[in-house]
Amino acid sequence: MSQGQGAQAAKVPDASTAPSVISALRTLCQGQCRKRLASPALSVAEKRQAHWKGEVALPDTASFLVDSHGRRFEYLRLSVTEACNFRCTYCLPNGYLKPAGLPQALTAGEIRNLVAGFARMGFWKVRLTGGEPTTRNDIVELVETVARTPGIRKVGLTTNGYRLRKIARELRMAGLSALNISIDSLDAGRFEAITGQPRLSEVLEGLEAALSAGIPSIKVNAVLLRDQNERDLEGFLEFVRERPVSVRFIELMRTGQNEQYFRRHHLSAGAIQFLLARSGWQPLEKDPGAGPALEYARPGYRGRIGVIAPYSKDFCESCNRLRVSSQGGIRLCLFGERDFSLRPLLQDASQLEELVQTVHHLIVRKAESHLLQEGNYGNTWNLSAIGG
Ligand code: SAM
Ligand code: SF4
Repeated sequence: MSQGQGAQAAKVPDASTAPSVISALRTLCQGQCRKRLASPALSVAEKRQAHWKGEVALPDTASFLVDSHGRRFEYLRLSVTEACNFRCTYCLPNGYLKPAGLPQALTAGEIRNLVAGFARMGFWKVRLTGGEPTTRNDIVELVETVARTPGIRKVGLTTNGYRLRKIARELRMAGLSALNISIDSLDAGRFEAITGQPRLSEVLEGLEAALSAGIPSIKVNAVLLRDQNERDLEGFLEFVRERPVSVRFIELMRTGQNEQYFRRHHLSAGAIQFLLARSGWQPLEKDPGAGPALEYARPGYRGRIGVIAPYSKDFCESCNRLRVSSQGGIRLCLFGERDFSLRPLLQDASQLEELVQTVHHLIVRKAESHLLQEGNYGNTWNLSAIGG
């Protein structure tokens, strides 16, 4: 494949023409690049870059997934529905309205095939998200399906917590190993003002149910919002004194829908980090392969505090995840321009090899970094569509 042909890569079809993704990729490549073997001196990332330029053969498609910037991917975030019953001011301020003609979300069978394909590429961690994933009646079965997939060692769920009180134990029994609950304020009035739901006590009961059920890792997500929950820091620090829970403050991200809101409420995570350092919280070393959160601990506290600062320099360096939408579109970056539909490749377990090859071909298109700092948020209209 020549450089000129490489330029055609921009024409890889999007979701609307997805049935032909794999054949289009074959046409672009035409098998030419398989003729020469790679030098053993090259790293996998270099081989992939070279493959895209047509210089070397692709490594075995069953091998792990590395992009052209040397990042290895092993964590899949899968949205199982766009629908949500909350109206968080930064996400769905007017509530969820199903777009006309939107096809049904991925079925349990399609999800089984998808996860099996990613497990084949070395993915060992899957998080189910949404929209609100627990609005799906089959959420417990979905957790079980993912947990039973050979190769998957960790199954997470991100939820607004409204159903947790009832299903925490079932989720644990199904194999859930990590739970993130969104709680933007511990003050009932502020919680309602932010989420549009007077349900703080229900959500907190859900969190306690999850602790009693023995779900191994429990985190609370709180989006940092100027003039809304900045006063909640003290309450959250107190909250983790006795609970083995990590509260993670997430910087508000700009999306297509929240421009005015973002200007008014964005608060840099640096403000929290300054206060943490002043009150004896120590930053922890990151585990190899850990995501972008920075965690802090303090003697005498059972829980931890985390900070996720997507606007910080080098945030994308530790990117280890890929996202798939509830319609089966793979999103190479949360703030990427487009999805590539994998759905046609999820119809039968026999398509697994084709699915794996397609993802290997697509990964080389992953950009080094998002362009949020330049005000470019891709086609992310709000995070309920892709799951955050
Ligand atoms: N409904 C579930 C929930 O709220 O946990 C899962 C989906 S929600 C999109 C996933 C996470 O993204 C939540 O913790 C939410 O607070 C966060 N989120 C949504 N919009 C955001 C934004 N514009 N900036 C930062 N975080 C956002
Ligand atoms: Fe729903 Fe989660 Fe978005 Fe809130 S953040 S509106 S709970 S999808």
